[in-house]
Amino acid sequence: MMTARVLVFGLSLALSSVLAAAPSVLSTVEVAPGVFVHQGVHQLPDRVNHGEIANSGFIVGDRCVAVIDSGGSPQQGFALRAAIESTTRIPVCYVVNTHMHPDHIYGNIAFKQPGTRFVGHHKLAQALALRAPYYQENAKRDLGFVLTPEHFIAPEIPVQTMLDIDLGGRTLTLTAHGTAHTDNDLSVYDAKTQTLWLGDLLFLGHIPVVDGSLGGWLKEIERLQGRAAKRVIPGHGPAVADWPSALEPQKRYLEMLQREIRAYIKEGKTMEDALAGVGLSARGDWQLFDEFHKRNVTTAFAELEWED
Ligand SMILES: [Zn+2]
Repeated sequence: MMTARVLVFGLSLALSSVLAAAPSVLSTVEVAPGVFVHQGVHQLPDRVNHGEIANSGFIVGDRCVAVIDSGGSPQQGFALRAAIESTTRIPVCYVVNTHMHPDHIYGNIAFKQPGTRFVGHHKLAQALALRAPYYQENAKRDLGFVLTPEHFIAPEIPVQTMLDIDLGGRTLTLTAHGTAHTDNDLSVYDAKTQTLWLGDLLFLGHIPVVDGSLGGWLKEIERLQGRAAKRVIPGHGPAVADWPSALEPQKRYLEMLQREIRAYIKEGKTMEDALAGVGLSARGDWQLFDEFHKRNVTTAFAELEWED
């Protein structure tokens, strides 16, 4: 009896250590043939969600897989890698980063291996270099994980304007955009399924966050409206087919910011006035409004103050 109990105890210990060692597999949905997306939650990054809040995923060709955004923590990157390995034996040749934000790039480290090349906007490397020390501090304080310089992987393939990458029987067209959500936004178009992966050029449900240029983003939205696509994948929110109308809520919010702040400036009002009064009617339209709206007003006010 004693022996049996010890045996069972030993077995369960062995089993639990096996379970602990097994990497978790990130849940993904195949939104179009060969296009897999994990949809992030609309939350601020914290120690509970580990910063795993943005959309990430992968696209499978005949010869290569391309990861599009690797997740908001190293562990999410490894879970994404496990999801790819449970789907296909085709190797990951490319990791495409849609922009510099931590929730889109901290999984990169999981894919740093021979044969995998990192791709991003030509301004991504500089943006990462500038922000890495600040991002490292934030990760330690808010998320509880330690990042080293090797977690900040500059793209080996910088995209100047447009670039096609061949996955074998499937070509992805990457476009480097002008300053919008950030100064290093990159979109990915999969011609095979007419899927446009927009990263944070598009927010659905989650309030848009301006970390580049309000005016620049509105210009990019105008250009994007002319792009044909059967479905789009935002950086935050669900993949949707109603394109380009999916841009409308975000466009309305950004235009409202521009219009109202311009009026405040014209009347000689201050940034504090704007923070107290601009855009409050949009409060019910967006998740995380209280967390990001005032920051947007601050950024936009500083930009519009210097307009001619
Ligand atoms: Zn972002």
